[in-house]
Amino acid sequence: MSDSRLALARGDITKLAIDAIVNAANTALLGGGGVDGAIHRAAGPQLLAECKTLAGCRSGEAKITRGYSLPARFVIHTVGPVWSGGESGEPETLANCYRNSLQIAVTNDLRTIAFPAISCGVYRYPIVDAARIAVDTTSEFLRENNSVEQVTFVVSTDEIYAAYRRLL
Ligand code: ADP
Repeated sequence: MSDSRLALARGDITKLAIDAIVNAANTALLGGGGVDGAIHRAAGPQLLAECKTLAGCRSGEAKITRGYSLPARFVIHTVGPVWSGGESGEPETLANCYRNSLQIAVTNDLRTIAFPAISCGVYRYPIVDAARIAVDTTSEFLRENNSVEQVTFVVSTDEIYAAYRRLL
């Protein structure tokens, strides 16, 4: 039985009026394609200006900015692993993305947070494995932390939706 604080939705993460959305960013934190591009477009140029002050982000780590023109108050930027066969620490790095993003939410007293399917686009992480890491890592974190009220996984394809659906 999965945690009642976990939810699954299809759609565009940039539309959510919640405390924080997570960005699947790259190490430069200067914008990019996919969900990163969508978040920067919706947030406006002030987001890039704040990101430029952060000096990048390592894979598995996370950094927070304001949300600017987004309906979400904050953006937590994390950098997923690029899939290269699974022997380069990709599972641990992906789990760290979820854990470190959630820890930033707790530190900033943020209660509602949404994740995209980190690394499941250009970074080519196998979907079923990535979904399991997302759900397991988040569930484990919530068992130890009561301040976060809702974590929504927002996905954009049928395949990814089905992978999460089986786990939730
Ligand atoms: P990564 O480089 O970490 O693989 P991508 O942005 O390429 O990140 O893809 C991550 C996932 O986010 C993909 O499944 C992609 O389809 C999805 N995605 C793209 N745009 C959005 C959006 N606006 N809202 C939610 N998910 C999105």
